[in-house]
Amino acid sequence: MSYVRPEIAAMAGYVPGEQPQAGKFIKLNTNENPYPPSSKVVRAIQEAAETSLIRYPDPLGTPFRIRAAELWGVEPDWILCGNGSDDILTILTRAMVAERKLLRLPYPSYVLYKTLAEIQGARSQEVKFQADWTLADDFVAPDPDLGITYLPNPNSPSGTILSPDQVLELASKLEGPLLVDEAYADFADEHCVSLVKQNERIMVSRTLSKGYGLAGLRFGYLIAQPHLIAELQKVKDSYNCDALSIAAATAAIDDQIWLQDNVDRVRQTRERMFEELMQMGFSVQPSQANFLWCTHPDWSLKTLFEEMKAKRILIRYMLYPEWGEGLRITVGTDEQVDACLAVMRSLL
Ligand SMILES: *Cc1c(COP(=O)(O)O)cnc(C)c1O
Repeated sequence: MSYVRPEIAAMAGYVPGEQPQAGKFIKLNTNENPYPPSSKVVRAIQEAAETSLIRYPDPLGTPFRIRAAELWGVEPDWILCGNGSDDILTILTRAMVAERKLLRLPYPSYVLYKTLAEIQGARSQEVKFQADWTLADDFVAPDPDLGITYLPNPNSPSGTILSPDQVLELASKLEGPLLVDEAYADFADEHCVSLVKQNERIMVSRTLSKGYGLAGLRFGYLIAQPHLIAELQKVKDSYNCDALSIAAATAAIDDQIWLQDNVDRVRQTRERMFEELMQMGFSVQPSQANFLWCTHPDWSLKTLFEEMKAKRILIRYMLYPEWGEGLRITVGTDEQVDACLAVMRSLL
């Protein structure tokens, strides 16, 4: 006897990347930032802990909305705060995909979108990337059941990106809303935030987990036109962001100098790592994110992954049915990357 809805009983549930005991592994498997966050963030948390814990938090995260709006040249009512951008994705799915309707996503990409559709009792439709990691018109084909389309850009696991022009063209052919999930855009040359003003169907989500080094904090946000934000607010938990995370996220987004330094460092390491993996005979996708996607013509990547894990280097092995396998390796510090590459060389 199952007491849960049939949709829930039937689903497997999302499995996040491994989070082993701290210190034991060089951890390059879940695209976290390798550097500690801005000290201003830590100070803001300390201050908030001393002053604001007895009251409920601001339900909309007003101080954060004001600063994020300034950063992007919009008004605060264009911003919706979330408990991580996964919360934003949950809110969007709840609000925009009716039961048995359709959620569209590219393949291979972020597996959580599919899980959200399953929870909702909706269907999901995966549209394959082309060999060059662009999307053909079947990604924007009309369908009366289509609720929302999700597009991670830069994409995971590939690290590839569609230009704002390409995204605008897709959106203009699409009949429903398009969420551009920009979890990795801090590391990219281009982003789609300005498209939100041009086309109400385009929404952009951001996270502080990757570029800002705050995966443990849980804070993300959506940029969308105000009439959409107003509807989405009805669907979120009343206090989806806590007082400490609102204070910390506000301090983080205020420290753009820290962000730029951090992103520069990670990108430098990324380019070096790219070269060295190529020299080892991997086929590596040029990346606009903080990880690299690579395949190897001669080696069993599953075996390599397992041997590396035994040597306490944790990377991500991925096998996509009807697509293929690969390794997704997060860009760590120079030291971590050197250790990873040295172990890899010794195993190949
Ligand atoms: C990491 C990631 C997220 C989730 O970010 P959180 O803000 O930590 O919930 C969303 N989308 C993609 C594609 C990601 O890789």
